[in-house]
Amino acid sequence: MDLLNRRTLMKTAAASGAAAALLPGLAHAAASGTELFTSDEAGLLVDSTVILGENSAVLIDAQFTAGNAGLLADMIAATGRTLESILITHIHPDHILGLPILLDRFPQAKAYAHTDIQAILSQMLAPMHGQIAGSAPAGVFADRFVLPEALSADHLMLEGERIEILPPMAGDTALITPVHIPSLNTLIATDIAYIDTHLWMEEVATTDGIGPWRASIEALRAIGAATVIPGHRKSGSANDAGVFDATIAYLDHWEKARAESANAEEFRAKLMVGTEDLGFAFAIDRGVAAAFPA
Ligand SMILES: [Zn+2]
Repeated sequence: MDLLNRRTLMKTAAASGAAAALLPGLAHAAASGTELFTSDEAGLLVDSTVILGENSAVLIDAQFTAGNAGLLADMIAATGRTLESILITHIHPDHILGLPILLDRFPQAKAYAHTDIQAILSQMLAPMHGQIAGSAPAGVFADRFVLPEALSADHLMLEGERIEILPPMAGDTALITPVHIPSLNTLIATDIAYIDTHLWMEEVATTDGIGPWRASIEALRAIGAATVIPGHRKSGSANDAGVFDATIAYLDHWEKARAESANAEEFRAKLMVGTEDLGFAFAIDRGVAAAFPA
């Protein structure tokens, strides 16, 4: 059980402590053999997970802005591990546009996405990068994009341990690959779960995707992992099965507010009741506009 032996845990704790002192965005879960990086609000509060072996590491998701990707790279460097692989879990820009920054720092690492997700990225990554980076001041985003390699296998290996890549399922977009690490009792739910933030509703509002999203949540919950890392949260928010409850509660609130509203203005007002303090406010207007197109 290489990921979880005592020596690894001690090294993990030491590395985490050192990094945590330097990096405000960093939280760590030493007992689970992972380190978590949560971006700032400008980076849309997106989580990246570093899975630690004794000498090597695997990264799940690559951040949005160049600044947050750079801080994540600093955190990985501070662990002392060699970054072997990066998995991109879905097509959204906040999980992939930081990839070139990470590959510049760790050129030996290979970036992957599930075959079906990579196929979509091969069409949309260039225009997506052009639109987003082109409309921001220079330096906010990486000045290029990198298309991950297609991964047909259902796992990555890290020092003899399997990192299970679950088949694509629905969340805030149609195809997302969560990651399960049985030896660490850890599930990386990515954008199937959120906590303490608004949810990205734009796509599911226009495609009747909320039902499939709920089904994915229950499928992931049934795995029973002790540590559950959501796609978005505030730094320091929970990373356990409570993230499923938080996501369901927001979906319930959203659907009730929508059903009781006749127009976008009314819906927005109802949606904001009790959600004023949530992060990822960028998602609100886009979700409202999708629910009540002008
Ligand atoms: Zn996301």
